[in-house]
Amino acid sequence: MRRACPGCGFRFEREPGYWVGAMIIDTAVTFAALFVVLVGGILLTWPDVPWGWLAAATAAVTAVVGVAFYPRSKTLWAALEIGYHPVEAHELEPPADR
Ligand SMILES: [Zn+2]
Repeated sequence: MRRACPGCGFRFEREPGYWVGAMIIDTAVTFAALFVVLVGGILLTWPDVPWGWLAAATAAVTAVVGVAFYPRSKTLWAALEIGYHPVEAHELEPPADR
């Protein structure tokens, strides 16, 4: 990921720990996917639930969604955060530094 937007110079990481919000969004989406697979798998196969396969499927979904969604969660977090904390001029890098 670039340090700043090549167009406007906005530094993406506005302060130390800035991406914790993105991690929270990523974790929430990952748990939602895990919940859907787990509960859906139980409901669709009840009463003969294949617990081993379900455990493997939930582990795979958790790993894939957690990693694949993380860049999107950063974009979503930045958009949400900029919405209530607009970018100020001092946060923009000069064109020579981009
Ligand atoms: Zn920009």
